[in-house]
Amino acid sequence: MKALVYQGPHAVGIEERPIPHQKGNALIKVSYSGICGSDLSIVDGKHPRAKAPLIMGHEFSGKVMEVESNQDNITVGDRVTMYPLLSCGKCLPCRTGNSHVCRMLGLIGIDCDGSMAEYVSVPTHMLVKIPDAIDDEIGALLEPLAVVVHGVHQGRFRVMDEVMITGGGPIGILTGIVMKNIGAAHVYITEIDPFRLSVCKEVGLDVIDMEKENPIEYIKEKTDGEGVDLLVEASGVPVAAQQTTELVRCKGTICMLGIQKSLTPIDLRQLNFKEITMVGSRVYTKEAFKQAVNFAPQINDVLRKVITHRFSLADGVKAFEAIHDKKQNTLKVLIKSN
Ligand SMILES: [Zn+2]
Ligand SMILES: [Zn+2]
Repeated sequence: MKALVYQGPHAVGIEERPIPHQKGNALIKVSYSGICGSDLSIVDGKHPRAKAPLIMGHEFSGKVMEVESNQDNITVGDRVTMYPLLSCGKCLPCRTGNSHVCRMLGLIGIDCDGSMAEYVSVPTHMLVKIPDAIDDEIGALLEPLAVVVHGVHQGRFRVMDEVMITGGGPIGILTGIVMKNIGAAHVYITEIDPFRLSVCKEVGLDVIDMEKENPIEYIKEKTDGEGVDLLVEASGVPVAAQQTTELVRCKGTICMLGIQKSLTPIDLRQLNFKEITMVGSRVYTKEAFKQAVNFAPQINDVLRKVITHRFSLADGVKAFEAIHDKKQNTLKVLIKSN
């Protein structure tokens, strides 16, 4: 089979690989794989765990081609996506029902071969069926949607909250879409890129153009000088993290969904003065993943606006080039395997 392989820092290429038949696993014929921010850091050679050679891809849709007799209720022909987390089962988080923050946490597609190939081999207990109402393109968005659902849980969102999201990349926009559809009073989102701003507007978010507006002044004006109830940081940009404590109101919550690339100073005194709750969010629980899968049909049409590019597997290298080319206006880029 053909596979898109991370060959070393700044090197990806198409290679011929054997179809991965693994005892006990299901063999999946891959339909679409999404390219994730973590895949970009792998290719940059900056991912702390990923080692070349590696077939990337942890967000995908596909069809079960082979499975040993009806394991985990998975049968040949099922359309599936994958809960990609690998946990040790022994550490304290694992023993206390928090295996998504396992001390040894790994992912299929980062710590071992993933879905950017014609086929992928996955243990059946990690497969999640895709609802009939969702096609294979949206099926590849279910994993990032699960990231968002878990972030909403971590942020302890309440109906009618004033919500702000910093960063209009795929995760930021998906967060906005979900918040909008579960009863936020307003969803404000900051972004600098004109194309991304236009998509934010299209999906019904209140945009703050960072080229023209000061987000702190903007939010103060919109919220009677108080700030928002819930701020979701989805950019990973240091200045965005620094402004969070100014942007939330007394008793408000900051949820860190984007990952800062280095140590970032923040005015922690504001946490005392305003009794702010600051909470982290990492991947998703299995429960949040299933909730995302079940919720997706309700927001199917708006989800599709996040997908901007589709490349064939043979053109997989071009898909990565497109993301780095500002003129290409990418959000979620999919690779079509079959
Ligand atoms: Zn991802
Ligand atoms: Zn563990």
